[in-house]
Amino acid sequence: MTTRARPVVAIDGPAGAGKSTCALRLAQALGFVLVDTGALYRGVALSAQERGLEWTDGPALGEHTRTLDLRFETGVDGAPLLFVDGVDRSGDIRTQEIARGASTVSKHPEVRAALLGLQRRLGEDGGVVLEGRDIGTVVFPDAEVKVFLTAGVEVRGKRRYDELRARGQDADLAKIVSEIAERDAQDAGRAVAPLRPADDAIVLDSSALQLERVVEQLVALVRQRSGG
Ligand code: C5P
Repeated sequence: MTTRARPVVAIDGPAGAGKSTCALRLAQALGFVLVDTGALYRGVALSAQERGLEWTDGPALGEHTRTLDLRFETGVDGAPLLFVDGVDRSGDIRTQEIARGASTVSKHPEVRAALLGLQRRLGEDGGVVLEGRDIGTVVFPDAEVKVFLTAGVEVRGKRRYDELRARGQDADLAKIVSEIAERDAQDAGRAVAPLRPADDAIVLDSSALQLERVVEQLVALVRQRSGG
């Protein structure tokens, strides 16, 4: 058992399941810090590309990741901003290309190992919601609350499509759905820290649920688990 005064909440699941929205609202409702671990992998993919490194070169990417300065700050809307080597790259990491790059670089054990310590440091004091793919299984196997948030691939594709459109980006629904299916297969099929629910995770399917309802369930769950 850990001795944290406030819990670590792990929210894992595939792309587009509503993790980011739910994790942000949950963190705000509880006054917890939010750590978006996918943003770290995106930051690695973006900076590697800019330095001319191949997303397939594990050893070079591991070395690159170890020298990167990755930090979060809170934006005006409460959402986390990612700073890479002192520069806010939060907008630049939110493209389909960088999503694909993040999924590719994240297969390398060298990259995962280089990001593990940082993720643990960010969460160690508790009072934190971490969202990702392997938080409940690898980063914080002792998390007090573990949720695996999922939804059907069509629903997740439509959510991602609406998000990109709302940001004024071009989007093709069929292409997004197939890219998400491809990213799921890559994330679930990799040898290291594959996407899967922890044995003690609560699996929530948000396909037929408004994200507001999911947030309500999550808030209730954390309060119940932390005795509040
Ligand atoms: O959550 P997001 O879509 O930003 O994550 C981008 C990619 O980073 C995922 O497709 C996954 O391959 C990788 N990732 C990971 N482990 C995490 C978070 C993200 O492998 N904890």
